[in-house]
Amino acid sequence: NRRIVLASRPHGEPKPENFRLEEVPVPEIGPGQILLRTRWLSLDPYMRGRMSDAKSYATPVQIGDPITAEVVGEVVASKNPDIPVGELRTAFAGWQEYFVTDGKGTRRVDPEAAPPSTALGVLGMPGMTAYTGLLNIGQPKPGETVVVAAAAGPVGSLVGQIARLKGARAVGIAGGPDKCRYLTEELGFDAAVDHRGPDLPGALAAACPKGIDVYFENVGGAVFAAVMPLLNPFARIPVCGLVSAYNATEAPPGPDRLPALMRSVLTNRLHIQGFIVWDFADQAETFRREVGDWIRAGKVRYREDVVEGLEKTPEAFIGLLKGRNFGKLVVHIA
Ligand code: NDP
Repeated sequence: NRRIVLASRPHGEPKPENFRLEEVPVPEIGPGQILLRTRWLSLDPYMRGRMSDAKSYATPVQIGDPITAEVVGEVVASKNPDIPVGELRTAFAGWQEYFVTDGKGTRRVDPEAAPPSTALGVLGMPGMTAYTGLLNIGQPKPGETVVVAAAAGPVGSLVGQIARLKGARAVGIAGGPDKCRYLTEELGFDAAVDHRGPDLPGALAAACPKGIDVYFENVGGAVFAAVMPLLNPFARIPVCGLVSAYNATEAPPGPDRLPALMRSVLTNRLHIQGFIVWDFADQAETFRREVGDWIRAGKVRYREDVVEGLEKTPEAFIGLLKGRNFGKLVVHIA
């Protein structure tokens, strides 16, 4: 069983030496248990939080333990009468090849219904994050303007496409011309803004002539600073992630924007609500049915960035926090 464990806690940007590839015996299964062999492993920004021991909503990974990750694995041995060998299942198995579980918290993946890796992306946790956060908190109305950053990723790309399906105008913010072109030409976003371009506030204002009614917050930092002056009265801000700050070791330079934000909260009657996808666990079935239907009808498209081989996992994860991925990042283990 090859696995990648946390060798040391990163300070700032993770480095290859924070991770260690090691080999341990493949675990034995006991009564009621199954052995899963990882086929696809999901890499997600939240893993940076698990590598830190700062107080958070989830417990950190311990030094020497495999990093947390959801995978799609194949059942290669089973002493559980309900779960046959050969089935594909999702599980929080971590960055490793084999995982033993009693099956609780795992879910069967039907390879006939959709490519199995989508259970980690558009039809999995990131897709459900977009769907639940946008519809429950963002509540886009026809004609409104919805802005989302990290817009070429699995969360942002679905936020923009659902906004359009609800009749809103979707504006995506992404890094670089290729991702921006993808948003407008392939996903149907109404406009795309490159956050690495020369004048982000000016470009965003030009893309949002009627202001912003919903800002789906994935990024924070300079992007939020550009969004703030454009927020309309009664704007909704689902706070989903702050990826620009995940590697931060100190407060950003520049003026304290908190007084201006609080003034905007008051005068614009902003609704700002943080959420974790599992807050909406009871909507999982509805999400999978509705987004599955949209995909089959060609109304929702998605893109995956597949990396081959467990040993590539640390490098791919380091790149994820810098925008090197283009689409949902998954590691395929042959
Ligand atoms: P992505 O695949 O979109 O990867 C993250 C992207 O963030 C990068 O590709 C990069 O895209 C962008 N990015 C990184 N740094 C910056 C920066 N400084 N400024 C602007 N953009 C930046 O990730 P996901 O779709 O999986 O996740 C998106 C967000 O949703 C994250 O914040 C994540 O933590 C959050 N999330 C929250 C959940 C919840 O339950 N609350 C659940 C799942 C995800 P680019 O090249 O465009 O800059």
